[in-house]
Amino acid sequence: MAETTSPQTIAASHGVASDPAYGAVTPPLHLSSTYAFEGFEREGRYAYGRAANPTRDLLAEALARLEGGAGAVVTASGLAAVDLVLSRLAPGGLVVAPHDSYGGAQRLLEARAARGQLAVRFVDQSDTAALAAALAERPGLVLIETPSNPLMRVVDIAAVAQAAKAAGAKVAVDNTFLSPALQRPIALGADYAIHSTTKFLNGHSDVVGGAVVAAQADEALALADWATTTGVIGSPFDAYMTLRGLRTLFPRIERQQQSAMAVARFLAAHPKALRVHYPGLESHPTHAIARRQQAGFGAMLSFELEGGRAALKTFLEGLGVMTLAESLGGVESLISHSATMTHASMTPEARAKAGIEDSLLRLSIGLEGEQDLIGDLAQAFDRL
Ligand SMILES: *Cc1c(COP(=O)(O)O)cnc(C)c1O
Repeated sequence: MAETTSPQTIAASHGVASDPAYGAVTPPLHLSSTYAFEGFEREGRYAYGRAANPTRDLLAEALARLEGGAGAVVTASGLAAVDLVLSRLAPGGLVVAPHDSYGGAQRLLEARAARGQLAVRFVDQSDTAALAAALAERPGLVLIETPSNPLMRVVDIAAVAQAAKAAGAKVAVDNTFLSPALQRPIALGADYAIHSTTKFLNGHSDVVGGAVVAAQADEALALADWATTTGVIGSPFDAYMTLRGLRTLFPRIERQQQSAMAVARFLAAHPKALRVHYPGLESHPTHAIARRQQAGFGAMLSFELEGGRAALKTFLEGLGVMTLAESLGGVESLISHSATMTHASMTPEARAKAGIEDSLLRLSIGLEGEQDLIGDLAQAFDRL
């Protein structure tokens, strides 16, 4: 297919009707762990499932095309994808990560740092002076996450990438919150786009998986080689499910972000929602960057609920359409309480420093009817 093919078409049709055996329209799920040699000393395209698998390859190719990269590696989880990128660092190399990075990524970086395998600085990347000071230490890698979790702060990828490259660092962007449907970090200067495919890419909350897309072909090969060496690859079944989910990425996220905007406006006007964090609201501090850098504002938002712990319990247990659960990006709307759930491993001081109040609730907006979502929130507010 020509590279001018639209991303919607890539998502819907990469690998469709390409089955050489039976002409299956839906690409088959290949579970075999091993492949017959064509003869003595004649290995076919596939030999062993840890190194390569046709189903996993299709997903990797589709993701590479969607992100505008040279190649991709599909991993067993989003954190395995982050760790795979860390494998490209020289021993003891420095990583500059966001001060409000995903909790699991923070734990991974701190655990590797504690073992002396790398060094890490957590920096507010929108603070130009703080970023410049960290870059002066000559990091090997700058990790960006935008929008951030759970406050939806947007970082200027092109600006950070340019400064990082000038300092000799590689740049990785965790693109989980928006997906390539709404943000393409490689076009903005990133060397790697990282995904937890668990979230929007699969979109149905029934797979844990990840992927790294590399801008350059040699980097993609090096990542694939390390994934084969360590065995962090994703399973064929998970790849099949994720490719199936990916087919509907564009209509899902477009619909989900429309509802997210409606929910954000409802919350912004509600007296019991104190502060609403959604990059689509003009009042959001990084709205202008989001408007420039993203193709949409996404389906994630957060807000502070008035009234303390008792109010949180009444409100959360009073919801009927939304489910109290961690994770995000699925067809079903989820709500989580940052301080006791997704960000419970941070100390109260660290949460306060990052601006994560005890009253903060994060929403992942799904595909339910917009009025049902707003109605659900409205009736839960009325219980307070
Ligand atoms: C969930 C998530 C991860 C980790 O992904 P897993 O699939 O749970 O390992 C990394 N980054 C972000 C932004 C996430 O939301």
